[in-house]
Amino acid sequence: MRKPLLAANWKMNGSLTENEKRLTLFKEKLSNLEHQDIVIFPPAIYIPQTANLLYNSDISWGFQNIFHESMGAYTGEHSPGMAKDYGVSYALVGHSERRLLFGETDHQILKKIAILLEFGMTPIVCIGETLSQYKNHETLDVLKRQLKAFLDPISCEQQDLVIAYEPVWAIGTGKAATESEVQVVHENIRLIVSEYDQWDADLIRIIYGGSVTAQNSNHFLAQPDIDGLLVGGASLKSDEFISICTQ
Ligand code: PEP
Repeated sequence: MRKPLLAANWKMNGSLTENEKRLTLFKEKLSNLEHQDIVIFPPAIYIPQTANLLYNSDISWGFQNIFHESMGAYTGEHSPGMAKDYGVSYALVGHSERRLLFGETDHQILKKIAILLEFGMTPIVCIGETLSQYKNHETLDVLKRQLKAFLDPISCEQQDLVIAYEPVWAIGTGKAATESEVQVVHENIRLIVSEYDQWDADLIRIIYGGSVTAQNSNHFLAQPDIDGLLVGGASLKSDEFISICTQ
């Protein structure tokens, strides 16, 4: 049985005051939801605040980005060990904004996944096609390539890893994919994963992200192969994220 995962990606938004209000409300309303996992991704500088405010709740917190070395001369980066010091259990890897705006490559993504698994953290690996690839019917080819880049080299028996399907054209645009479209893509992702012996495709969680709102979230979650949601913009509106997690 796959436990649904609801993730809030705050990107580069928030402040000490705003976060305190939001996190206090999340702790009050979203603790004790046994049937799903909830994880908040604040900007890295607010991880200590998040850890403090969510301590002793059932809500987890994670890094939006992490470096693939454990320490050294890497100005401006954060290592998985540093994240662990603050109780971090998840990290996003390969978000399309990192791939497109910061030139993150499949090779760097692979190294990040490997070090996160080594440190016992759960990577949420983001994959997805651009609008022109979507229009050219290249979605599955693109996803296959992005999946192969880490499924080929990594042996992940018994490891926890989440795949987030995030079509680039749906992120922050207000144009979500339809639930039936996403269901078909997720079925195909599971099929690709099943070709790798060391992975149990039935157990791996595949979540969807891209313009999720309180209006469309339950349609996605009703699909058999959509195991959760990665929520950007709507996760900054406390009531909306709470409603996504509780409906
Ligand atoms: C995201 O950034 O991962 C995302 C899905 O954003 P939004 O929900 O705003 O489309």
